[in-house]
Amino acid sequence: MERSTKENAVRQTRRRSIYNNEASRQRPIISFEDVTKKYQNGVEALRNLSFRIEEGEFVFLMGSSGAGKSTLIKLILLEERPTSGRIYVKSRNVAQIKRAQIQTYRRSISVFFQDFRLLEKKTVFQNVAFAMEITGASRKEIEEKVNITLSLMGLSAKKKEYPSHLSGGEQQRVALARALVVKPRILLLDEPLSALDARIRRNLRDEIRSIQREMQLTTIFVTHDQEEAMTMSDRIFLMNKGQFVQTGTPEEVYLSPASEFAARFIGSYNLLSKEQASTIFDVQDKGLYAVRPESIYVQEEGGIYPGTCSSPVPGTVISHQLLGNVIRYRIAALGTELTVDVMNRSSSRLYAPQTAVRLLFNLAEIKPLVH
Ligand code: ADP
Repeated sequence: MERSTKENAVRQTRRRSIYNNEASRQRPIISFEDVTKKYQNGVEALRNLSFRIEEGEFVFLMGSSGAGKSTLIKLILLEERPTSGRIYVKSRNVAQIKRAQIQTYRRSISVFFQDFRLLEKKTVFQNVAFAMEITGASRKEIEEKVNITLSLMGLSAKKKEYPSHLSGGEQQRVALARALVVKPRILLLDEPLSALDARIRRNLRDEIRSIQREMQLTTIFVTHDQEEAMTMSDRIFLMNKGQFVQTGTPEEVYLSPASEFAARFIGSYNLLSKEQASTIFDVQDKGLYAVRPESIYVQEEGGIYPGTCSSPVPGTVISHQLLGNVIRYRIAALGTELTVDVMNRSSSRLYAPQTAVRLLFNLAEIKPLVH
C-alpha cells in the first residue's frame, strides 16, 4: 500500500502517543522456570523449559510440527497448566490465578491465529469494536479507539464494508486491528501470515514490525518461515521435542547454528560429513561441517575472491533456480552435491546444467558444528 511520508509520520506519532504504555525495557514480562508439560496421554510437550522475554521484545518461536510451540502459547494463555515448574507473566505467578480471574488476566494479552474469524454480518468497524465491547468500555471510548486503530492500519476507508467485500490482506488487517485495539501488553501471533500471498505477506510483516516497535509490544510470533524470523525478530527460539535447541539473535542463529538440527532448520546449509569435507578442504575437527550456500563461489575469470578461500575444486552444474537477486545452483563436486548461491547481477553468467565450473570455499566462514 502506498502512503505519503507525511501521512506515515502522522500515523507513527499518533501510535506512539496513544499506545505508549511506559514500557521499560530489560524487565522480563514473561518467564518460564523449569516448565514441563505432560498431557494426559503421556506426551511430554515441553521439557524443563526456562526462558525470559523482556518487555517490548519481539521473539520468534520456530520449530517443526509437534515441537511444543502451541503448548507454550496455551500455557501463557492459561488454556493449559504446567505439570511442573513456574510461569510468571508481568511478575505474577500464574499458578495463583484462579478460574474466575482468567478472563481479566487474558485482557492484557491479544492473540492472533492464522484462522482468525471475522464476524461476517458485522462491518469492519463493528468487528473491531466488538473486541472492545467485551471489555466494558464506554461507547465514546470505543468509537474513538476503533477509529484511531483503523486509521493506523490504513483501514479508515473500509470501515463500513463487510468482510466478504475485502481482500484477504485487508481481512487480515482487520483481524490485527481487532487484536491491537484493546491495547494489549502482550501479543501472541500463531502463524498469522501463512495463508497470504508473498506481496501481502511482506506488507503486513513490515506493518506488524513497525506497530510492535512503536507500541513497545512484547510479541511472540510462531512461524515455520525462516525468512520471516530472520527479517523481523529480536530473538529466535528454535524448538525441537519440547526444548529449545538454540536461542539467539537472527545473526547468531544463522551464522553459528548450534547443532545439525539448527543448521537444517535455518537457511539452506550444506551439511558435509568429515569424509566429504576432507575431500574438499583441510579438516581438523571431527563431526559435521555446515557450509552456507553463499560461502562457496563459482570462480569466474578475472573475479576477485577473499584470501581465505580454498584452492579451486572442479564441479559440474546439475540445476539452477532463480530466487530474485540470487541464483541458487546445485553443483556436484568431488562426489558431493552442493547448494551454491550466486548474486544475480546483470553481468552474471547463467550456467546451464552439465557446465564444468570451479568452486572456491571461503574457509573463514566454515566451522564444524559443535555437538
Ligand atoms: P506445535 O505447536 O509445535 O506443533 P504442540 O504444542 O501442538 O506442538 O504439540 C506438542 C506435542 O504435544 C505433540 O506431540 C502433540 O501431539 C502433543 N499434544 C498437543 N496437545 C495435546 C493434547 N491436548 N493432548 C495430548 N497431546 C497433545
